[in-house]
Amino acid sequence: MKLYVSADMEGTAGVCSWSQVDPSNQHEYPIYRRYMSHEVRAAIDGARACGPCDVLVNDSHWDMRNLLWDELPDDVRVISGARKPLSMAEGASDRYDAAFFTGYHGAIGTAGAVLAHTYNDATLYEVRVNGVACSEALLNAAVLGLYGTPVVMVTGDRTTVESTLRALPWAVGVPVKDAVGYYAANSLTPDAACRAIAEGAREAIARIASAKPFTFEPPIELVIETATVPQADFIELLPRFERIGGRTVRFVCGEYLTAFHAFLVAMRLGGAANIPA
Ligand SMILES: [Zn+2]
Repeated sequence: MKLYVSADMEGTAGVCSWSQVDPSNQHEYPIYRRYMSHEVRAAIDGARACGPCDVLVNDSHWDMRNLLWDELPDDVRVISGARKPLSMAEGASDRYDAAFFTGYHGAIGTAGAVLAHTYNDATLYEVRVNGVACSEALLNAAVLGLYGTPVVMVTGDRTTVESTLRALPWAVGVPVKDAVGYYAANSLTPDAACRAIAEGAREAIARIASAKPFTFEPPIELVIETATVPQADFIELLPRFERIGGRTVRFVCGEYLTAFHAFLVAMRLGGAANIPA
């Protein structure tokens, strides 16, 4: 069995503030990156309760250099660093039987979800694919879906887990905390969260036969609402992007991978518009 893990951080138990997930923070971040690493290890241990498992972990948060190598099982592979052609879904391929999303968070604009955003909240106000407002979980699940890999477990706050499971009803959701607000959570302790994640992972692998790859039906229409007008001014210059509103651009193509790449490029280029002229 071959398992792919995309590990984000905002959905880690206890996390309720940017300071805890910002690598430049010398006080809180070192503690919470350890908790993040423990949750990833718990997910792998849980999967392995069902049998041997070849594991690739893609560090998917911020500069993507968060996971503590010596907190992980020593036989896994880890993709570390940024930027990557498939970003949070880097390493996706048809060799993986299943995927876990750990530490995930809600889409930008979601109420009741801790630190909810979609890739980059300074640039992206909303991302829609074929009319569906997308979280990172959906955008990344659709990349894995192209390779036939189903997402079978998602962990994070309860709102994030429940909204992801509406799109991926075959997956196991492990809510490790409840949002009290954008910057507040009522959370399990890290150890209790790890136990819940290990149990969720075991259950997810046990019912893998009912899981389905998540895909968007071509043609693919990507609509990006930017945070500001100058960002849309930049993105509009990219080939095949069409300006359809002051802060809205549209990209249509025949298959999702091209749309996902267009999304990443648009986000990164839009970010350049944040530098004052
Ligand atoms: Zn993150």
